[in-house]
Amino acid sequence: MHKILVLGSGGREDALCWKIARSPELEKLYCAPGNGGTSRHAENIALNAADHDAVIAFCRENAVTLVVIGPEAPLVDGLADSLRAAEIACFGPNAEAAKLEGSKAYTKQLCAEADIPTAAFQNFEAAAPAHAYLDTQSLPIVIKADGLAAGKGVIIAETAAQAHEAVDMIFDGAFGAAGASLVIEEFMTGEEASFFVLCDGETALPLLSAQDHKRVGEGDTGSNTGGMGAYAPTAIMTEAIIATTMQRIIEPTLKTMAARGHPYRGVLYAGLMLTAQGPKLVEYNCRFGDPECQVLMTMMAGDIVPLLHACAVGALAGHQAQWHDGTAITVVMAADGYPGAYEKNTQIKGLDALGDAEQVTVFHAGTQIAPDGTLRAIGGRVLNVTARGKTVEQAQANAYAAIDAIDWPQGFCRRDIGWRELTRGD
Ligand code: AMP
Repeated sequence: MHKILVLGSGGREDALCWKIARSPELEKLYCAPGNGGTSRHAENIALNAADHDAVIAFCRENAVTLVVIGPEAPLVDGLADSLRAAEIACFGPNAEAAKLEGSKAYTKQLCAEADIPTAAFQNFEAAAPAHAYLDTQSLPIVIKADGLAAGKGVIIAETAAQAHEAVDMIFDGAFGAAGASLVIEEFMTGEEASFFVLCDGETALPLLSAQDHKRVGEGDTGSNTGGMGAYAPTAIMTEAIIATTMQRIIEPTLKTMAARGHPYRGVLYAGLMLTAQGPKLVEYNCRFGDPECQVLMTMMAGDIVPLLHACAVGALAGHQAQWHDGTAITVVMAADGYPGAYEKNTQIKGLDALGDAEQVTVFHAGTQIAPDGTLRAIGGRVLNVTARGKTVEQAQANAYAAIDAIDWPQGFCRRDIGWRELTRGD
């Protein structure tokens, strides 16, 4: 039996808590800091993930058997290293392995070393050579700040002037320490997909593919966001493409990391471009996507706890993941104005009336239960209305029917989540 601590406060962590809470192997679940939804499945506690000693002390006091780290920042910051040093099992890579997300230059270098298909690139630590290199390249071209920049550090330049400006902006400190170096890479064309794999340092267990919707507007228009919806799996990731992805991208990555003495333990999330030459790596993330995690957890039929624990302790060989048939879709309800300024503390009603519909789960992201017991929106992305269906159409219809029953006048959502899959036909 496990006592588990989940770290984070988003929809991803609510989905992880929801799934973990269903495990027959669970004795007690904590979430730090959690949100207005995680308290339905876990005991929310005030713990700062940046304070490694406090996390370790909490785990010792409460005999925690597994820590699941949701977001990337504590991983890049070495929380998994600290927990492992204290002999506390932890789902999530050490800081060096989390560089796969934390440093784009690190990942590109690894791709070059292991012959992993990705956009042609050069890394730069100073502006002058970067400008000179740009003059030899064709347009459009992609310029990326090396470090974590909350999804804002990637500029796709259509003109030479934009490209040079991006280089100066990054080296002038627009992204702080994340812009101490940068990567210039070839622009790839194709459809994007996400692919998730559990790893215990050696063994890799493929999960599902997914597609997200980053833009705020319908038809994938408007500003970039943390993600307005997602679905899994996607038919565009065929078995053949999955096999190529495993063989050419995931396995060489894990092998190289292990050979470097930094075995990868946790979930590896590959952002892929499906090009005419096959799948190419756009980027790695060292954690579940948010909101992709919500659809993966909804689709998973078996128990997640043995899988998470096996990743943490290097015992994944022989494990299988089981999945429901069909598709899951999650639609993000955000506060009016997001990703710009938005009102906080507005009241959300109508969730209780949804009951426990077998096919629909509403995960919480930026919510809080007020002292008077009402549910309040306190963030930009607030609810993730997640539904399964035999087909994408059914999953979509189930999700939007639930959304129509939620009473939150200050919220909005995209009405077209899953549109790419619907246009593909059968
Ligand atoms: P990243 O943070 O590296 O995933 O980049 C963010 C987004 O920029 C990706 O999801 C792609 O839509 C786009 N992007 C990044 N690199 C490239 C590239 N080399 N070619 C085309 N689009 C790219």
